[in-house]
Parts: sequence; C-alpha cells; structure tokens
Amino acid sequence: MRYEGKLYRPPSEADAYILQATIGCSWNRCVYCDMYREKTFRVRDLAETLADVEAAGRRFGHRVDKVFVADGDALVLPLAHWRAILAACREAFPSLRRVSCYAMARNVIGKTDEELATLRAEGLSLLYIGPESGDDVTLKRIAKGQDHAEHVEAARRAKRAGMALSVIFLLGAGGVERSDEHALASAGLATEMDPEFLSALTLTVVPGTPLATLVARGRFELPAVPALLRELRTFVAEARPTDALFRTNHASNHLPLGGRLPHDRARIVATLDAALDGRIQLRPEGSRGL
Ligand code: SF4
Repeated sequence: MRYEGKLYRPPSEADAYILQATIGCSWNRCVYCDMYREKTFRVRDLAETLADVEAAGRRFGHRVDKVFVADGDALVLPLAHWRAILAACREAFPSLRRVSCYAMARNVIGKTDEELATLRAEGLSLLYIGPESGDDVTLKRIAKGQDHAEHVEAARRAKRAGMALSVIFLLGAGGVERSDEHALASAGLATEMDPEFLSALTLTVVPGTPLATLVARGRFELPAVPALLRELRTFVAEARPTDALFRTNHASNHLPLGGRLPHDRARIVATLDAALDGRIQLRPEGSRGL
C-alpha cells in the first residue's frame, strides 16, 4: 500500500481499507481547511491504484468489508476509472459490503443519473458530503464553492441513484456574526438533504489557512463555546430528517453526543441544555483535536 502525504477519513471508516485513488482535493479552496493544502490535486495513475488493490487483496482478502476511496473528493474521478476500481475491489475483497468516499456537491451534479446509478450498482454505496452550512452567506464566506440549493440537488440525485448519504456540518462556520443564521439554515439543509447519517464537527482555526488570516485581521470571530453549543441545540431541535443516525463524536467537538433524529431529539436537546447550564462536563480544551 503506497500512500502520499497525510490521509484523512471519516471516524466511521476507521476499520476500512483506505485506497488513495486521487491525491488532494480538486477544489482545495475552503478557507478553514488545511487537509490537502500541500498537495496539488491529481488523479493517481490507474495501474498503480489497481496494483494497490491487488496487493491489499493478497494481504487482507476476506478481512476487508469496507473500502474508503481517498483523498478529499474522490467522486470527481471519471466513470471509467471508478468502474475499474470497483471491479478490482469486488475481486480482491470477497466480503466487501460497502465502498464510500468524500464527495462535493459539484462532483455529484457533474455526473449523469445513469453514471450515478452505474456507480451504485457496481458498489459505491455511501457518500460523505460536507456542506458545513446551509446559510448561503456563510457558504460564500468559507469559499465552499456550492450553495444551499446545489447541496439539495446533489442529495436528491445521489439518493435517486440509491446511494446513502453522510452529511457533515461545521459548528462555528458562520462566525459570531452569522451564528444564528448558520445554525437555522444548516438544520434546514439537513432536513432537505435527508441523509441516513448526520454529524456536526466544530470549526478549528488552523494556522496557515486563509481563515487564520481573516481571524488575525479581525474579519472573523469564532463563537465561544456556549454559542457553539447553542448552534448545536438549534440544529438538533430544528432539523427534520426522516431517520438519521446523528453523531458529534469527532475529536473537534466539545460534547460527544449520539442518537437517532428525530427519535432521540428530546434527549439530545436535554443533554445540551444540561451542558449549557454547566451540569455536564465538556471535553477539556487540550483533549480536542482536528
Ligand atoms: S472540499 Fe473538503 S477537502 Fe476540499 S478544500 Fe473543502 S473542506 Fe478541504
């Protein structure tokens, strides 16, 4: 297995085989993100990628039931490339039950319905999409490159192809100024995207990013912890997915929560109220991570 640079994958793919079929992110402009900043995006040579799958198959074979295709927006790969990867994975890993990747809304919209259906039929069954916010002003400021409506359209197209969605929001992305709008509009977008999995991370200002420059110039202020918890409370109270597994277990969060929405909404909101009242201990600052 050959890997280039740092690898990132969602917490729920901790036990997946990570296949690096692209290097970096084809967008690479979100102001808060430093994940692939040192990488110039490129599609990895297909023969090399397939050789990795074969080698992993020889080594891990039946032990692999999940494959996560990296890096930052691997759905951008052309259909022929994906089909070769999915065929190789089915061959190498007889117990394979799920292939997933990060995707931007633009990657989904950039594929036809037939292409998405083919990808689903051949094994790509879960997309991780991070709109981060449902607020168009915030989306513009963080340079996400796609607006609320495009995320709704991407979710509709992916779901129509039979793919499951894991949708990620970013507490604090609206700064102090748009905190309320960000929380409410994100709940609205979660409702409209109606994913199977829903999570919230907390924005961290990483040195060297454009966001760090905005903070240094006084043009962005990260909400304080109580305001971040209030964003999360609004989000949980207002989002109306049909039935989503909800998690805030990412290392960046102050309070790890979990449950199903809407089923566990009242319990999660009560926990957040207890945290806001100081009756529940938050994760110590030093033990949070990116
Ligand atoms: S799309 Fe994702 S990986 Fe790419 S720059 Fe934005 S946050 Fe980073």
